[in-house]
Amino acid sequence: MHIPTLFFLVFFTFLSCKNPKPQPTATVIVHGGAGYINTELMTQEEEDGIRKAIEKSLQKSHQHLADGGTSVEAVQIAINILEDSPYFNAGKGSVFTSSGTNELDASIMNGQNGQAGAVAGLTNIKNPIDAAIAVMEHSPHVFMIGKGAEEFAVIHGLDTVPQTYFYNKDRYKEHIEGLSEDRSKFGTVGAVAIDHNGNIAAGTSTGGMNNKRFGRVGDVPVIGAGTYAENGVGGLSATGHGEYFIRNVATYDIAAQVKYGNTTLDEAGYNTLMKKLKSQGGDGGVIGLDSQGGVVIHCNTVAMPRGYISSKGEAVVMIDME
Ligand code: ASP
Repeated sequence: MHIPTLFFLVFFTFLSCKNPKPQPTATVIVHGGAGYINTELMTQEEEDGIRKAIEKSLQKSHQHLADGGTSVEAVQIAINILEDSPYFNAGKGSVFTSSGTNELDASIMNGQNGQAGAVAGLTNIKNPIDAAIAVMEHSPHVFMIGKGAEEFAVIHGLDTVPQTYFYNKDRYKEHIEGLSEDRSKFGTVGAVAIDHNGNIAAGTSTGGMNNKRFGRVGDVPVIGAGTYAENGVGGLSATGHGEYFIRNVATYDIAAQVKYGNTTLDEAGYNTLMKKLKSQGGDGGVIGLDSQGGVVIHCNTVAMPRGYISSKGEAVVMIDME
């Protein structure tokens, strides 16, 4: 190579290592599940539906924060909108179990006080994230499952729906035919928000994995696996092959690198998703905000619908990872 060019490249590389690109900061960030369907494989209608729902979720949640709302409320607002959309594997768009039923899981964590709530195996609650919040705010417990969780949600005034509410032609086809490798997706939804007091919250909601055995619970309602938040450290929500996220205690693994090591949340997310899980064959992604609102996005599959509201109030929405 031409010597001055080589010198320039080495010098430039040195400079860029010394001055890493500043991370964008945000008040709220959401994801709509990692997977192998990128925009090339989507219909225009599907892509538009996903983008619009993410944008709406970000804007409503951001507006709530701007009006002085808390980060837990902002996460709830963001997730409710995605749960009500048929394009994501959570709430309305949940996948089917191998028995043709729907079993929904969700969790929330409040980084201000370390409180958390989670539910698993819900069959008739419209918005599982609301049930997780009810467990956190109105019970001495963290994790409730099945009938007991449903009864608790109803006592706290949450909306119920018949199982037919979750019927969706495309999801049912995926249940009958199974997912091909290159069209597989997870579709879970999650959100992380930071409010005007600097309090961070994270939440995640899912229908689980297509054709999971009934009774199977994934990482989403497991605090420290699918969801984690701690003021001063950050907030995280994951999506992907849940068993790997549970075995690696993935979101806490990321937080712990920041807490006990000298790592940024972004580097820690990279280490866990792109090195550790990837080397094990654990497909998935994670979104987060560090304690200053720094955006964290890592995913080892080809696509993960996601977006954040920048500190200037603009919605940035992306689907493909490349
Ligand atoms: N993590 C979820 C689960 O294993 C699936 C997903 O992210 O869509 O249940």
